[in-house]
Amino acid sequence: PTQKATDRAAAIDRLIEAEQARFASRHPKSAAAWARGREHYLYGGPSHWMRRWAGGFPIYAEAASGAHIQDIDGHDYVDFCLGDTGGMCGHAPEPVTRAALHQLQRGTTMMLPTLDSLWVGEELTRRFGLPYWTLTTSATDANRGAIRIARMITGRDKVLVFSGCYHGGVEEAHVEIRNGKIGMRNMIHPNAVDHAAVSRVVEFNDVAALEQALKAGDVACVLTEPLMTNFGMIPVEPGFHDALRRLTRETGTLLVIDETHTISCGPGGYTALNGLEPDMLVAGKAIAGGIPAGIFGLSQAVAERMWQIVPHANPKQRQSAHLGIGGTLAGNALTVATMKAVLEEVLTEANYARMIALATRLADEARALISRSRRPWHVTQIGARAEIMFTPKVPRSGADVIATRQGDLETLLHAFYMNEGILVTPFHTMFLMCPASTEEDVARHTEVFARFIELLEREG
Ligand code: PMP
Repeated sequence: PTQKATDRAAAIDRLIEAEQARFASRHPKSAAAWARGREHYLYGGPSHWMRRWAGGFPIYAEAASGAHIQDIDGHDYVDFCLGDTGGMCGHAPEPVTRAALHQLQRGTTMMLPTLDSLWVGEELTRRFGLPYWTLTTSATDANRGAIRIARMITGRDKVLVFSGCYHGGVEEAHVEIRNGKIGMRNMIHPNAVDHAAVSRVVEFNDVAALEQALKAGDVACVLTEPLMTNFGMIPVEPGFHDALRRLTRETGTLLVIDETHTISCGPGGYTALNGLEPDMLVAGKAIAGGIPAGIFGLSQAVAERMWQIVPHANPKQRQSAHLGIGGTLAGNALTVATMKAVLEEVLTEANYARMIALATRLADEARALISRSRRPWHVTQIGARAEIMFTPKVPRSGADVIATRQGDLETLLHAFYMNEGILVTPFHTMFLMCPASTEEDVARHTEVFARFIELLEREG
């Protein structure tokens, strides 16, 4: 590294230390709670994801409402993290709370369908276009179910994903390309799985590589977000979806589109907005307003192939085949009741229009500050979600992100945000709007981001 790069890294390191010290002094109660949490949780919090906040430890939440969270030290935050999308309906949205309370009093989980499920199934088809649905307890589980079905009906082993992807705790998708080599993403342990046997990985937007990878006809499905959101946002290039659909069809490979994050595009996700034709579609997180839930839908043709392998149950046979997909709590009465509330009253066309307008304002104002300060950064937006990336160019692939990302600057920004009353998901600089987000919330971000740039300018 050059002297200039070394000096820059040292300066950012000093600033991170200062922000983390400021964070510790502003959050004595959360610090004490975290120290106790470490006594009985493997990684301090009930989920290991909660340890990744840039202040050095998480704030402990006292309560949350709409787009705001209060912590146990008495601070208020504008929440653009929204539970990394699980809270995209806003915190404690009234229709979901009402539906949940009603259903809690009538029983939550019975291994029986409720009448609400009929409306939900019809609505999922209306929104996303696919005729047949299965509910799960998470998007991870929905992806696992879709992969399993793809293997069952194609008889093939491999799942193709794009480098830099994330699809939950899905073994096949834990791979990436780094320095031209295929390896495990994010230092994930290989877990005794032979990833060469079950996974194939290529760069996003690379039609030639995709064609090459599908040619042998041994890939059960391509699993992809319609554009990538989990390695910084990587937009899709014109023509890529057409090529992806054509190549998957030509090679008998199923196409699974994961809309878990891109549901921010609109009521039917990116798929409905852009007329994609996936064989299967997955979503989750926000779909039941914060109650654990995932969904996957199948096309008519895929469903018919599935019924040939596993027919509808014959009530005379005690041991009718099952799918090998888990989910005792999946599709239970509570999940279905809250999904109905979300689809009917929260993630509506009108609310999307407001959320998208706010994300557009945040993105525009951040872009103006970036260009005024001549920083080599950029901002991407998809619907109700915007992202600031510390890279000069919009990346085309995971390789571009690896080559240009400035992780230390991201950590500094995140720690600064927390001290200034703004929350964004620790592992992305993404800003998600919920129906309760306001113009004031966006204005607060613009003001704080301007002060962040000033902080860097003071440092030279
Ligand atoms: N798919 C995508 C695109 C995701 O971003 C995530 C989580 N970030 C998942 C699936 C998994 O969701 P969950 O952790 O809720 O199972």
